[in-house]
Amino acid sequence: MDRTIAITGGGAGIGRATALHFHALGWRVAALDKDADALAELAALLPKDRCLPLRCDVGQEAPVTRAFDRIGEWLDGDPLTALVNNAGIADPCCGPLEDLELAEWQRWIDASLTAAFLCTRAALPLLRRADGASVTNISSTRALMSEPDTFAYAAAKGGLDALTHAMAVSLGPEVRVNAVLPGWIETGPWQKQGERTDPDHSKAARAQHPAGRVGTPEDVADAIEWLVGAGFVTGQRIVVDGGMTVKMIYAA
Ligand code: NAD
Repeated sequence: MDRTIAITGGGAGIGRATALHFHALGWRVAALDKDADALAELAALLPKDRCLPLRCDVGQEAPVTRAFDRIGEWLDGDPLTALVNNAGIADPCCGPLEDLELAEWQRWIDASLTAAFLCTRAALPLLRRADGASVTNISSTRALMSEPDTFAYAAAKGGLDALTHAMAVSLGPEVRVNAVLPGWIETGPWQKQGERTDPDHSKAARAQHPAGRVGTPEDVADAIEWLVGAGFVTGQRIVVDGGMTVKMIYAA
C-alpha cells in the first residue's frame, strides 16, 4: 500500500523540499499552505494522483478541520503514515518587547504552536490507522538560544518542543512524536517564482558552522525521513544545524 505524508507549509522552503523528497521516495503527499501560488507551483511538479494541495491557514480551527476531512476523503480508508508540522513564520524578529502587540505575538504562536496542536488533533484518526505512524514537529535552535527581539518565535518553538514530549507520552504506542530543530537553513532556491534567491554566504557565515556551510532544506528533509522510519525513537529533539549551537564563540 502507498504511504502518505501530510506536510504543513508545504508550498515553500523546508516544506516544499520535504514534499519533493518524500515524493521521490514513493510517498503520496498532502501539502497544506496558506499561499495558493506556492501550492500551485508544488502541485505542478508532481503527478495529480500523488499530491493533494490544500489551501489552509493551519493556525485556524475550522480550515484545519476541513483540510483533514478532505485528506480523509482522498485517503479513502487508507492510513496517513506521517504528519510534519512545519508551517511557521520564518522571520523570527518581532522588534522591541515594549512595542510588541498581542495580535503580533499571537501570529507567531498560531502559525507554529497552535497549528501543531490543531493539525495533530485533526490528523489523529487517520494516523491511528497506520502501522508506525509519526508526527514530526519543525521547531528551531531558537528554542534553545536567542538573538535579541525574537520573543514570540522563541516562545512558539519552545512550546512546540514541550508539546512534542507531551504528545509523545500520550499518543504512543500508535503514534511517535519527535521534533527537528533546524539552525540556519538557506531556503532562497526553494521559494515560489518571483521570490527565489541564490544563496550567497560569507566566509564568516560558513565558518560559524563546524560542518563548514549553511544548511539546506534537504538537510532537514533527511532528518525527517530518518525520524519517520525510526520506530524506537519518540519524544526526541534532533538538532540539524551543522554544529552551530555547540560552537563556543569568544569575543575577541
Ligand atoms: P518559508 O517561509 O520558506 O516557508 C514556510 C511556508 O509555510 C510558506 O509556504 C508559508 O506560506 C507557509 N505558512 C506560514 N504560515 C502558515 C499558516 N499559518 N498556514 C499555512 N501555511 C503557512 O519558511 P522555512 O524557512 O521553510 O521554515 C519552515 C519551518 O522551519 C518554520 O516552522 C520555521 O520556523 C522553521 N525553521 C526554519 C529555519 C530556517 O533557517 N529557514 C530555521 C529553523 C526553523
